[in-house]
Amino acid sequence: MYCPFCHFEETKVIDSRLVVTGDQIRRRRECLSCNERFTTFEVVELSWPRIIKRDGARSQFDENKLRVGILKSLEKRAVATDAIEAAIHRILSRLRAVAEREVQSSLIGEWVMEELLLLDEVAYVRFASVYKSFEDLEAFRKEIQQLKRREG
Ligand SMILES: [Zn+2]
Repeated sequence: MYCPFCHFEETKVIDSRLVVTGDQIRRRRECLSCNERFTTFEVVELSWPRIIKRDGARSQFDENKLRVGILKSLEKRAVATDAIEAAIHRILSRLRAVAEREVQSSLIGEWVMEELLLLDEVAYVRFASVYKSFEDLEAFRKEIQQLKRREG
């Protein structure tokens, strides 16, 4: 870690703490040459499993894509950002817990639907209609019925 002020190579850590989400460490460092202080963030490097799509193609898991998909479903819905982030966090934890090198995209899709179902019904239907790409209205109607049944 180079000092951003004088580019000296040696710095010492004067404080370390875990950032709220639990996967980042914030460190205060001090340069041993110029004594300037600065902050670094360290992220635990995780190797996500690769995703197997429906057609068998493999791709790298993309956390941002997951987030965008979820946010899109929740567009203009009254759902707190904290609740959304917590849902995303749970999905990522589940993915991490799988500990496989490859995971079916449908599995992640199911997790997203489970979370959306808890967050917001409209978002759930939006996501499901795109994700499941219902072949016809009948299939879509069945999904809605199932949803209603689950609510009792
Ligand atoms: Zn320095």
